[in-house]
Amino acid sequence: METTSNAELLQSFKDFFDRKSAILLEPTKCEWCGSTLEYFDAQFWFYENEKEWTIPLRFCPSCDLQPRQ
Ligand SMILES: [Zn+2]
Repeated sequence: METTSNAELLQSFKDFFDRKSAILLEPTKCEWCGSTLEYFDAQFWFYENEKEWTIPLRFCPSCDLQPRQ
């Protein structure tokens, strides 16, 4: 049933985003250089039900803004 599979898919995405949101509770130091991590808001949404999430993603201002070699 297509409706059921869509609901399951949506639930799996919700679980995924719930886990991503929990990142805020984790330490905010870069594991490579020890710099304080910064956040930017990434937005995700589903076109079918117009549900939208804003997820804070971490990045290191020292490591992630420079090409790694
Ligand atoms: Zn770093």
